[in-house]
Amino acid sequence: MTKQRILIWYRQDLRVHDLLALDEAVQQQAEIVPVYCFDERNFGETSFGFPKTGSFRAQFLVESVTDLRSSLQKLGSNLIVRRGLPEEIIPAIAQQLNVDRVHYSQEATPEEKQVEKKLRKALSAQKIKVNTYWDATLYSPEDLPFEIKQTPELYTNFRKQVEKKAKINSAIPAPKKLPAIPEIEIGNIPRLAELCLETPKFDQRAVLKFKGGETEAIKRLQDYFWQSDCLREYKETRNGMLGANYSSKFSPWLAMGCISPRYINDQVIKYEAERVKNNSTYWLIFELIWRDFFRFIVAKHGNQVFKITGMQGLEIPWKEDWQRFDLWREGKTGYPLIDANMREIAATGFMSNRGRQNVASFLTKNLGINWMMGAEWFESLLVDYDVYSNWGNWNYTAGVGNDARGFRYFNIPKQTKDYDPQGEYIKHWLPELASLTGDKVREPWKLSQDEQKRYGVRLGVDYPHPVVDFFKSVKANEKIYQSVKN
Ligand SMILES: Cc1cc2nc3c(=O)[nH]c(=O)nc-3n(C[C@H](O)[C@H](O)[C@H](O)COP(=O)(O)OP(=O)(O)OC[C@H]3O[C@@H](n4cnc5c(N)ncnc54)[C@H](O)[C@@H]3O)c2cc1C
Repeated sequence: MTKQRILIWYRQDLRVHDLLALDEAVQQQAEIVPVYCFDERNFGETSFGFPKTGSFRAQFLVESVTDLRSSLQKLGSNLIVRRGLPEEIIPAIAQQLNVDRVHYSQEATPEEKQVEKKLRKALSAQKIKVNTYWDATLYSPEDLPFEIKQTPELYTNFRKQVEKKAKINSAIPAPKKLPAIPEIEIGNIPRLAELCLETPKFDQRAVLKFKGGETEAIKRLQDYFWQSDCLREYKETRNGMLGANYSSKFSPWLAMGCISPRYINDQVIKYEAERVKNNSTYWLIFELIWRDFFRFIVAKHGNQVFKITGMQGLEIPWKEDWQRFDLWREGKTGYPLIDANMREIAATGFMSNRGRQNVASFLTKNLGINWMMGAEWFESLLVDYDVYSNWGNWNYTAGVGNDARGFRYFNIPKQTKDYDPQGEYIKHWLPELASLTGDKVREPWKLSQDEQKRYGVRLGVDYPHPVVDFFKSVKANEKIYQSVKN
């Protein structure tokens, strides 16, 4: 019997371990043709004119593809790399190499589904079969106690149901060996300049030097769980903002599919057996379930998630105030916690979860600015950008998503006091405030003329006055929100 020839179309799943599309081809003892396409559309602009993939993520992607090629080569295979439209490139390679079947991990967002549809049409015209796999979550759709269309709107309901009624599969180990690919030009992995992007400079103040690829992902897990033994106190440290180990920092690798969430789950189980089982070990899974939740909820709501009215369809008159938006994105609002976070993301492509919640709340609940401008700014910069988590979280924070509590804002002065009491994080990113102590650094607008002289921080010169009065602006935006909601 002649062997089947299967093309694996790699997408946001750049790994060899625990990959259904690859494993099924291995099980069938097929000839395997792995392909990755740099899709030009991902290097265009967002609707507000930001680069869709900024240089932090582009570099991470190039590193991830490079690592995948090297892993496949070590297993005896290789990775064919092309630039262009996957729906044209995949059928062309399939034809050239007489492929019988194409395997890929499916996505659940409208743009990506459109590409899949075009691809399937082209392949069907060539009589090539397609197998698709839902592969990015802890829980598989077939194990959920509800249809995706019935995904509960509230996280707690989602989590309770899946925890009670569904199981998480163990990860499939990476294959030990793969067949060689047929004779074909493998293609170069583009350099950043070829993608019209500059190589980002590493900022020494960054939480971590993120490097793309499965190898680095596994290394990070080894370090965070096993060498540095941080998992045991994850729940206590996860709201931090400074340093490599307050949280796992798995997100960039998860977003690119360099690590499987089920592999992380297996490692948590192992850690619980060998080290300690406590609230912290559970909480990492609790957070990964949030990630699942957003993927399923976005799959349920489709296009709505990417509209200004959000999942709830709320017609809030958001402002498109570029002057204030610029103050926000440049870290010049006069609220140190916001400014420090916005400078961190601009300089490094990363921001903590605590930071993201605060800056998103400030943009929408204090400045009343169109949340989609914020979501696109994050999309452009984040090294861990994940379409589901980003747009789901922005819907949620803007109050147009599935938040049971309606108009909910973060009290920035209180958050600053709770999460950066000594202002260490603020000073790390705002050197102009370095001379100030604790409460003064958190609320510089309260500095008297004398204090401004003494500390050498002139308000309106060295550091801006607050762009808005905190509570007045919250009240004004709440009024607008309630008038639409009621
Ligand atoms: C406005 C906003 C935008 C966001 N955009 C993204 C994004 O584009 N990509 C992204 O991966 N996360 C996003 N998040 C979620 C969260 O901030 C990051 O996942 C987290 O900060 C990554 O750091 P970590 O890996 O150290 O997280 P940890 O605290 O170590 O958590 C472990 C993993 O759980 C998942 N997770 C944790 N919190 C959330 C959450 N709230 N929603 C979904 N998954 C979560 C992530 O995969 C994370 O890697 C966003 C949050 C907000 C408020």
